[in-house]
Amino acid sequence: MPDLSSRAVGVQAQRTSVDSRLGSGAHSLMQQNFGNIGNAQFQHVAAREVAAPNPPKVVEVAPRTFMIQPGMANVALFETDDGLLMVDSGCAGDGPALLHAVRQLSAQPLHTVVFTHGHVDHAFGLWAFLEAGERPRVVAHENLLDHFARYAKTAGLNAAINGQRPGANGRSWPSAPEDFVVPDVTFRDALELRIGGERFVVRHAKGETDDAAWVWAPQRRVIAAGDLVVGYLPNAGNPRKVQRYAEEWADAAEEMAALDADYVITGHGDCVEGAEAIRDELLTMVEYLRYIVRHALDGLNAGMRPDDIVESLVIPTRLAAHPRLQPRYDRPEFICRNVIRRYGGWWDGNPANLLPAPTALRAGEIARLAGGVDVLVARANELADSDLRLACHLAEWAFLADPRSSAVQDCYVAVFDRRRDGEQSLMGKLAFSEPSQRVNAQRAEEDR
Ligand SMILES: [Zn+2]
Repeated sequence: MPDLSSRAVGVQAQRTSVDSRLGSGAHSLMQQNFGNIGNAQFQHVAAREVAAPNPPKVVEVAPRTFMIQPGMANVALFETDDGLLMVDSGCAGDGPALLHAVRQLSAQPLHTVVFTHGHVDHAFGLWAFLEAGERPRVVAHENLLDHFARYAKTAGLNAAINGQRPGANGRSWPSAPEDFVVPDVTFRDALELRIGGERFVVRHAKGETDDAAWVWAPQRRVIAAGDLVVGYLPNAGNPRKVQRYAEEWADAAEEMAALDADYVITGHGDCVEGAEAIRDELLTMVEYLRYIVRHALDGLNAGMRPDDIVESLVIPTRLAAHPRLQPRYDRPEFICRNVIRRYGGWWDGNPANLLPAPTALRAGEIARLAGGVDVLVARANELADSDLRLACHLAEWAFLADPRSSAVQDCYVAVFDRRRDGEQSLMGKLAFSEPSQRVNAQRAEEDR
């Protein structure tokens, strides 16, 4: 694999590759999901000086209409006689390459920019255009301002859960006023733009975020969908992030499917081309999301506990088999949990967990009952061949009961590394890679 850190400028090149952290094959999974991403940018998504490893990929999807992939997210560019409409702007580090790509395509000034949502990989590359003297009108949904405020309030949390390191400005996540380009125009439900005599419709939706917008260009029959359409199962369940909106996501996909578009520029990964492929993908997504929502609500209404609702979720094969709805980022179980959280409380329904004893005390008692932590370790290693999911519980108990034992640490790392390597979703891989990171950090601390 090429050294993807080599283009990092001004930040100490990071040698920790995605594969060494998340297991072999993780980097190709990242590229499948996010296109043009390297190890350095993976750890510095907020740093202006860290670019993607390759020059932007550009596809002309319709006359004067382009899909540009400067980094991990896609950008849509519509050229009109009055200037350019650009949808999204990539990560902060994608700005210069995106500007260069746009200028290769057109000499028209940047007339309007629409942010499809406030995520770090979509709304942060515009600074490069502003520094170059462009003065576009910036349009976004009104909730984007709250999204930015939340970023500033939870910069440490976001840096931690996304494994981010500080860039040249000392920040790991956008949090200072100069990090944000604030929109000039906000809207609530929909907004019609007229640029170069052409009509563009900006629609609000809720999906991965509550500030989502997508753009429909009726004359060109092109949709710029942002993260409402990606080439894999929607990220409607992310285990460590704020509420996602599976129901409204399905509604938006249904609305898009009814437009009979010829091309959908996705937020990440490969785009969708052709009316039939678009309808097939979007309507299957609608059915998939609604299936999970109905399952979660039926379970809640029947008084079931969250764990039991999730355990009984079985996705019909016709949905699970769709090649562009694979759980490469998120999982149906996580989407189900997200729906449960939306309508229920935080409690898992287990009375012992309402005001629980400390985890180490509980694990110590289980180890004592088992006849010692070694018995837990032996059983975890044994179960790893037949029931890895159960083995993980035993390994976790063993580690909580005796985190200093090197036999326990070895078992903890081995069992969870195995789980990580067999896991298809990026969110799962990230969580299952934590035991090895925790043990590595602990051992480094002890060596000091
Ligand atoms: Zn995104």
